[in-house]
Amino acid sequence: MNNDHYLFVSDLHLDASLPPAVDQFLTFLDGPARAACGLYILGDLFEAWVGDDDLDECRASVCAALRRYTDSGLPCHVVRGNRDFLLGSAFEARTGCRLLPDPVLLQLGELRVFVCHGDLLCRDDVAYQQLRSIVRQSRWQKAFLALDLATRRVLAGAARKGSQAHTSRAGYRIMDVNPQAVAAGFRVSDARLMIHGHTHRPGIHDETVDGQAATRIVLGDWYTQGSCLRLYSDGRYELEALPRD
Ligand code: MN
Repeated sequence: MNNDHYLFVSDLHLDASLPPAVDQFLTFLDGPARAACGLYILGDLFEAWVGDDDLDECRASVCAALRRYTDSGLPCHVVRGNRDFLLGSAFEARTGCRLLPDPVLLQLGELRVFVCHGDLLCRDDVAYQQLRSIVRQSRWQKAFLALDLATRRVLAGAARKGSQAHTSRAGYRIMDVNPQAVAAGFRVSDARLMIHGHTHRPGIHDETVDGQAATRIVLGDWYTQGSCLRLYSDGRYELEALPRD
C-alpha cells in the first residue's frame, strides 16, 4: 500500500433533496479521501439509481467527483446497495470506479476482509429477501431497463414508499443482521474482519465464530453526518463520525 490506509463508506443515499450530504461527500472525495490508498463504497451511494442513464445534476456531479478521484490515480470500488443495485458498466466507464460482487472477499496486503452491503445478512426479513432475489435476476433487470426513464423513476418511487412502509411495520430485530448469516460469512471466507452497511446502525461488534474471535464493523449512514472507516494495513481501524457544520 502506498499510503497506510483504505477508506470505507456506505449508505450515503445521495439525492438532490439533501444537498448537505452531497456537498459533504464531494468535499470528502476532493480532500481527505485523497490521503488514503483507495476508497470502498459499500452500497447505497445513491438514494435511487434506476439505470446508468438516470443522471440528474446531483448524480452527475457525484459521478464527476468520482472521476476526479480515480483520475488522481486512486482506486474506488463500489458494491451495489438495495437502492442502487442497477449501477452498471456505463457508471464504471463514466467514473472509473470498479463494481464489486456482493458479498466479496478483499485481500488488502495481509488482511482478509469480508465485505458486503449488508442486506443479504438481514435474512429474517423474508419478504425483503424474496423481493431481492427477483430484482437481482438479469431477466427482471433487462425488462425493467427497457422501460423509459420516466416510467422507471415512477416505479422506483413507488417501491421506495412500499419499502418505507415495510420498514416501519417490521420489528427492530427483523431489520438487523441474522447471527447465523454473519457466522456463515466468516466461515466461508475464512476472514476475521467483516465490514458492511445497510442497517444504519454504526458500531463495532466482537463476534465469536467456531471459538475464534472476529470483528464486524457496521458503517453509518450520511443523512445527518458522515461516517467512514479508516482501515490501516496493520489491521488497526477507526470508525469515525464526520460531523457537518
Ligand atoms: Mn441499504
